[in-house]
Amino acid sequence: MATCTIRREDCTSCGSCWDLCPEYFEEGPEDSLSQVVEKYRRNKKPGEGDIPSDLADCARDAADSCPVQVIIIEE
Ligand code: SF4
Repeated sequence: MATCTIRREDCTSCGSCWDLCPEYFEEGPEDSLSQVVEKYRRNKKPGEGDIPSDLADCARDAADSCPVQVIIIEE
């Protein structure tokens, strides 16, 4: 299963990832930074997650769209 890491400290809150893949990414309610939705988090950390295969394409599209390239997907 692919995994996702968001370097949240460098997120600019542009909204692209959660617009493109809202089933996987969301805006953090307290800091407005991108985070993985709770269901898919790893280690209960907002910036780490496992990516189910049915969301892999949209998660990759979201990562590609990030203007500061802070979403890292590892296969
Ligand atoms: S696309 Fe990148 S900069 Fe924009 S909200 Fe998502 S993680 Fe942050």
